[in-house]
Amino acid sequence: MYCDMKTILDDAVKNHYAVLAGGAFNLETIRGLIGAADAEQAPVLILVGQNMIKRHAHTEVVAPMIRQLASETNVPVAVLLDHGRDWDMITQTFRAGFSSMMVDASAYPMAENIARTRRVVELCHAQGVPVEGELGHVGMAATLDGCDESMYTRPEEVLEFLQATHVDCLAIACGTAHGKYPEGFVPTLNFDLIRKVRALTSVPLALHGTSGAGDENIRKAVEAGINKVNVATEIFCACRDYAKKRLEEEPEVEYLQLCVEIERRCKETCRHFIRLTGSSGKAANFSPRYDFTHSVDRSLLDGAE
Ligand SMILES: [Zn+2]
Repeated sequence: MYCDMKTILDDAVKNHYAVLAGGAFNLETIRGLIGAADAEQAPVLILVGQNMIKRHAHTEVVAPMIRQLASETNVPVAVLLDHGRDWDMITQTFRAGFSSMMVDASAYPMAENIARTRRVVELCHAQGVPVEGELGHVGMAATLDGCDESMYTRPEEVLEFLQATHVDCLAIACGTAHGKYPEGFVPTLNFDLIRKVRALTSVPLALHGTSGAGDENIRKAVEAGINKVNVATEIFCACRDYAKKRLEEEPEVEYLQLCVEIERRCKETCRHFIRLTGSSGKAANFSPRYDFTHSVDRSLLDGAE
């Protein structure tokens, strides 16, 4: 069933587990991810990033596709724009019927982060669309700036940010980074920081840059209080590596067959992460009658930057 992020994550907070938020941008990855959630009977979140939309997954195609595939399963499925930075992209996905939104103004100083986040919350909450914000800044794995503690979330700023923005989910920076870590590198996470923030609020907490962080780190982060585990790079790499191996084995493999097999690989990878989050079987917590709908009040979309 098509659902929103808040409904899914509030249950995760209440029952102390996390939900996989998997990156997906085409039929194979979206159906692979939803298929994994269905097989595990787990709620799931689909992350579609700005870049994916610009380069490939146009919202007018991808939004109805996700909605249709979500309607074919009993597990709650929500979709959100991942790291929404541009107002145009935020309003475009809002209009297309994305059930949830992430605004990322974390590169700005606190006051500007609050102002930008709040503006998106005002638009989205008017139509019941929940919003995730980011406090502290999750950097890039390639440059290892995720290890820069000066970018970590400061617990003393959390309540001010939450009270000023009314976000429904908070992404925190505590040692992970986006993209692919250098070969052999495993990030060190600050679990005490997660526990400190968890003790301050019941707002769901998101961990970004989880690809390559390792199973143990994911389990411990969930135990410490994380409710949303973002994985994109590792899913895409699993699909790419499978295709590479398969083509080496059989260079003339039928393209259709290759796509079918890539989807299967995607599904297996996502099932692994779902199990790590502890969300397997949790679809039973949700009412089967729940269905997310929202209509767009266009007056709210005026005043683009
Ligand atoms: Zn992220």
